[in-house]
Amino acid sequence: MSKEGKIVVLSAPSGCGKSTIIHELLEGERPLPLEFSVSATNRSPRPGETDGVSYHFLTTEAFRDAVAANSFVEWEEVYPGRFYGTLRSEIDRKTAAGQNVILDIDVKGAINVKRLYGDRALTVFIAPPSVAELRRRLEARATDTPEVIDQRVGKAEYEISFAPQFDRRVVNDSLGQAVAEARAVIEKHLGL
Ligand code: 5GP
Repeated sequence: MSKEGKIVVLSAPSGCGKSTIIHELLEGERPLPLEFSVSATNRSPRPGETDGVSYHFLTTEAFRDAVAANSFVEWEEVYPGRFYGTLRSEIDRKTAAGQNVILDIDVKGAINVKRLYGDRALTVFIAPPSVAELRRRLEARATDTPEVIDQRVGKAEYEISFAPQFDRRVVNDSLGQAVAEARAVIEKHLGL
């Protein structure tokens, strides 16, 4: 029988480059042996997102049914009325087959996964160099109104307060360096 796979969990406040880092780790020059755990959500797909690839897009009713059926390892109402959950089947099926999985989930979900899986799971928090720098980046991106930027910065401060509960913290100051650091801690966890 193949050896059981391991679990890597990445969390970061929005605007900290988490998606870029995950993309680099999985599909960059030296892809790590990690399968992406596809979460379920009741939010609508954004342009370019595919059902079953980005997320399993569910109706609110179907999401509630999945909660009742104990189909989730963890789930959270990340934004008011917007639910996200890690499917037990995604983790168990993949790790039972010897595959390692990577989860991109919010801070509370990450801490719950760690509590459930212990040493099999590595939690990594991607942090901005500072809250002031995060604000500067969000302002430079110019996609949000000042009110939305304030909300995002406030949420980031709240999320950063969970950072001490993660196994490892990686500061995304320069992207290349952050990817290298994340790669190093993940390789160690996977025994590579
Ligand atoms: P988005 O809607 O931008 O794709 O994701 C919003 C937030 O939900 C992100 O912080 C993402 O990490 C988080 N998220 C995605 N999937 C899950 C999940 O399965 N569980 C939890 N707890 N959070 C998730």
